[in-house]
Amino acid sequence: MSVRTGREFLSIPGPTNIPDPVLSAMHQPAIDIYKQDFPPLTDSLLKDLRELFQTEGKSFIYIANGHGAWEAALSNVLSRGDKILVLESGLFANGWGEAGASLGLDVEVLEGSWRAAVNPEAVANRLKEDEDHDIKAILMVQVDTASSIVNDVEAVGKAIRSTGHPALFMVDTIASLGTMEFAMDDWGVDVAVAAAQKGLMSPPGLSFNAAGPRAMERHENANLRTAYWDWTARMGKIHYQKYAGTPPEHLLFALRKSFDLLKEEGVEAASLRHRLLAGATQAAVEKWSEEGVLQFNVPEPEHRAPAVTTVLFEKGFKPGPLLDFCDKKCGVVVGIGIGALDGKAMRIAHMGYANAPMLLGTLSVIEMGLKALSIPHGDGGTQAAIDYLAARVDAG
Ligand SMILES: *Cc1c(COP(=O)(O)O)cnc(C)c1O
Repeated sequence: MSVRTGREFLSIPGPTNIPDPVLSAMHQPAIDIYKQDFPPLTDSLLKDLRELFQTEGKSFIYIANGHGAWEAALSNVLSRGDKILVLESGLFANGWGEAGASLGLDVEVLEGSWRAAVNPEAVANRLKEDEDHDIKAILMVQVDTASSIVNDVEAVGKAIRSTGHPALFMVDTIASLGTMEFAMDDWGVDVAVAAAQKGLMSPPGLSFNAAGPRAMERHENANLRTAYWDWTARMGKIHYQKYAGTPPEHLLFALRKSFDLLKEEGVEAASLRHRLLAGATQAAVEKWSEEGVLQFNVPEPEHRAPAVTTVLFEKGFKPGPLLDFCDKKCGVVVGIGIGALDGKAMRIAHMGYANAPMLLGTLSVIEMGLKALSIPHGDGGTQAAIDYLAARVDAG
């Protein structure tokens, strides 16, 4: 017996739901890549990216997923053998560091926790020890999608600058851009990385770099530069150079539409929407946790991301049966735990194109599964989410 037929709900932290107008924007014939309309389209996307990153610096669009943009960022500002410091807060900064190791960088991980944000003081202390300035770049994520930690980019940027250390500050906003504030220039970030398929509501396949003046300066002598990723080559006068070849036309049409939707809503309104959906999710998880089986991966509310919530399973319970129930019986796809939390957690995404009924539907089905499978939990999680939103979404 199942109640699955109907619209499937995708509640995973990337790729996320693609709005119908974005899908429709791709449904058109290929166009001549030398057509005059193309350069203005590219310019508009690059400009909107700069606005989203809040930077006066340069922006770049790659035909690649986030891993590609990671490699682009590293190869444009670093040289073989350079030391980089990775700030651990889950899976992804470390993954970026591993990409650096394969490029020939000397990678040091400042060990952190999968349950708490990067401690700015620990970063400053490590930099103070580095009197010879061996560390050339510091890598951090704003939101880690495995742990669902949000790091305080502003505070870490401040801590770095307080030491006077010249290392570049490089930040992965793949799971946060479009879901919360990111102020690249004000926060002292030199290089930012993002991708299309999470908060930006577009299909996977595009990713982005933004580079400030200090990064552009290091770029001049970076010897990891290659033809395809190279920022200078992509700043060439000819449009074709912006993509190092044929533009990914349909993905660009999609991205244009996604940016239009985001602007229509307003970036601040979208951030607030994400905070509300995250708060509602947390209200539900708080209730469910009362029986000690389910538990927040991130105990400190301030360290919890607005885009995704990772929920641990304790006391010998595993998430598999519940996730299967949600998917196979109800048509709701909830994220699995990944990395160190593989088989130990579920991830509820509230990221990108997501509204109250989608989230409440997801939470209801999870609660239905908890009951159906007799997984001990506090009752009324979904009701708590409803109450949370009812108290905050004004009726005006
Ligand atoms: C998803 C994600 C990545 C990886 O992006 P891909 O497009 O899968 O290569 C990197 N960093 C963060 C924070 C992510 O959430």
